[in-house]
Amino acid sequence: MQHVDYLIIGQGVAGTLLAHFLQAHQCSVHVVDAYSEHAASQVAAGIINPITGRRYVKSWRVDDLIPFARTTYRELEQALGVRIFHERNIIRTLFNSREENDWLARTAEPGYQQYMLDQAVLDSYATHTLLAYSYGEVTHSAQTDLPTLTRAFREKLRREDAITETKMDYSQLQLAADGFRYGNFHADRVVCCEGAWGEQNPFFSYLPFGGAKGEVLIVRIPDADFEKIMKHRVFIVPLATQDHYWIGSTYDWKYEGPEPTEKGRSYLEQRLKDILQAPYEVLYHRAAIRPTVKDRRPFLGQHPEIDNLYIFNGLGTKGASLGPYWAHHMAAHLQEGKPLDPEVDIWRF
Ligand SMILES: Cc1cc2nc3c(=O)[nH]c(=O)nc-3n(C[C@H](O)[C@H](O)[C@H](O)COP(=O)(O)OP(=O)(O)OC[C@H]3O[C@@H](n4cnc5c(N)ncnc54)[C@H](O)[C@@H]3O)c2cc1C
Repeated sequence: MQHVDYLIIGQGVAGTLLAHFLQAHQCSVHVVDAYSEHAASQVAAGIINPITGRRYVKSWRVDDLIPFARTTYRELEQALGVRIFHERNIIRTLFNSREENDWLARTAEPGYQQYMLDQAVLDSYATHTLLAYSYGEVTHSAQTDLPTLTRAFREKLRREDAITETKMDYSQLQLAADGFRYGNFHADRVVCCEGAWGEQNPFFSYLPFGGAKGEVLIVRIPDADFEKIMKHRVFIVPLATQDHYWIGSTYDWKYEGPEPTEKGRSYLEQRLKDILQAPYEVLYHRAAIRPTVKDRRPFLGQHPEIDNLYIFNGLGTKGASLGPYWAHHMAAHLQEGKPLDPEVDIWRF
């Protein structure tokens, strides 16, 4: 029987980052993950956007989250030998004078100047898109390559013989006096990081999971050379592969399954055609469910009745920015006994 400090269920961005921070605490981890092309981390653009919504407000705790995310992804780039964190400003279309006025008013507010420019520099968007009324530009934003992160980390886990690539069978998880038995493993603690599948977890399904489906297109736009991200109803996000862009996304609370739909595709193509003045080719059409939570705060904490059984989930629409900070917070709670922030602790339910 192999002993590990932690069994981590799920290796999206949540499980990956938690495993990373627990290993940094010198803990032994074993991950159980059934890779799915419908995992949110495989479909997301990984945008980190400090200014969101129609009212241009700062995202929750962004002053702490963004610097922490940048440091963590840079560390992981070094450790894994891949590029994950791409700093990219976001050009935001302002459709009329009211939006422009609201934007300009916001840029003058304390705490906002560092994130917002009143004048946007369009670069090649000026020649390849239909010009709109006006634009603002967001700084300190980024695109994180979550598929590359999870793939490179999975390869590291394989080299360490620290991953089982199958679905977790909870009927085989046995509670013992000194932790858990699962197959050949004896684990002191189990942490569930299953994204939207957390809703089916027999121990945590009581939590108020939401679930919001998102569809995206990966397109090729030859010679557009977009470096920045553009938000014009949908996002256009440059990807690491030359001429490839992520176009997304839809947002649906009601859905039948995680598969892409014709309706989603035509919505996205229409939004792209509304703005793009260049030929494009659709390469892939993908979909996934975001692990959203009713109160829009992550799920961290221990099961109310079973000691040593934990959850780290609920990263919702913002796994790229929330993941590093809260995975670190969770690891510090598990290893150093630091109290969980009540805003994210599942005791709030
Ligand atoms: C269309 C779309 C666009 C998005 N865009 C952004 C964005 O721009 N910026 C941003 O920050 N966030 C974005 N998100 C949200 C982001 O993707 C999520 O917050 C994040 O990926 C959630 O990560 P996770 O690890 O919790 O879940 P997931 O990525 O879903 O990973 C869960 C993993 O657990 C595995 N698993 C589940 N159950 C089991 C089991 N029983 N046994 C074994 N393995 C299991 C799954 O196969 C999967 O590998 C987007 C999401 C979508 C869908």
